[in-house]
Formats: sequence, structure tokens, C-alpha cells
Amino acid sequence: MTQAEAAKQQQLERRRQQMWQKILAKVDERDGHCLSEPHEYTNTKSKIWVQCSQGHTFATNWYNLYTGGWCPSCGRNSIRMYTIVDLQNYARTQGGQCLSPKYTNINALYDWQCKRGHRFKAIWWGIYEVWCPYCIEAPDPRARDKFLDSLTQSGQAAHKRKSERAS
Ligand SMILES: [Zn+2]
Ligand SMILES: [Zn+2]
Repeated sequence: MTQAEAAKQQQLERRRQQMWQKILAKVDERDGHCLSEPHEYTNTKSKIWVQCSQGHTFATNWYNLYTGGWCPSCGRNSIRMYTIVDLQNYARTQGGQCLSPKYTNINALYDWQCKRGHRFKAIWWGIYEVWCPYCIEAPDPRARDKFLDSLTQSGQAAHKRKSERAS
């Protein structure tokens, strides 16, 4: 392995550990418990086992957690409600548009258009991995992370409001 390759490897490993810490923080924020071991996490689609505060066990991944997905047994109430504006805002970070008129649910297919005018259907959290399937362009990672962080912040604010109400 060349020095450059070794450095790249190290950088990837650091990134992986950072992502793992983010997952733990996310699970903690929802009062859950992470059952997977750190080495089981390799990328944002890796299956992670989580136990919710009600004791249900479910498999999820980084994208699900980041887009507000949580325990399927606890049901819809625990899932952050998105609006079509969130989808439009995300599409704008990629220089494109969301063409669907309204938001229905997290697993529905939505219509999108990339900056080159390609139209495609994709689920909401699927577009974090591949933006336009015709351009085969990965999303701009900086714009994506910034957007996801803004979602996290509003999620945390909502969480805080909820716990304040509960106390
Ligand atoms: Zn649950
Ligand atoms: Zn395209």
C-alpha cells in the first residue's frame, strides 16, 4: 500500500467512526438503545439494530435515522412529519426541483428533476445516496450534510419541546 492509499484508508476510517458517533447520538436523542456493534457499521446503508424506549427491536440505517425514521411498532407518531417544502429545499441544494405537489409519507415515490432537466422518481431518503439516476451523479456531499444537519437541528428542537411538555 502506498502512503497516499494508507492516508486515504485512515481518513475513511475516521469518517466511519464519526458517522458511528452520529448514529449513537441520534439513537440517544430518541431515548433508544443501539444493539449493533461499531464494527457492523460500514456505510450509510448498513443495517443497524436498535431498541426503542418501549423495548421494540428494529433494524434501521443511518439514512432512516437521519430522515426521522424510528420504531415501526411505535408507529407514525414518532416519525417527524415532513412537508413538501423540505423536499423542495433539498432538491434546491442539488440545483434541481421536487415536482410532486405534496408530501404523503416517507416511503412514497416523489417526482424530481435534476439541473440538466432529467425527470425521475425516487423515495425521499433515497435521493441522499444517488441524486439523478441519469446523470449518475452523487449528491453534493457538502450541501447534503448541511441540509441533513438543519433537519437534525429542527428535530432536536421538536424533541426538546416534547420533553418540556412532558415534564
Ligand atoms: Zn417501539
Ligand atoms: Zn440528470
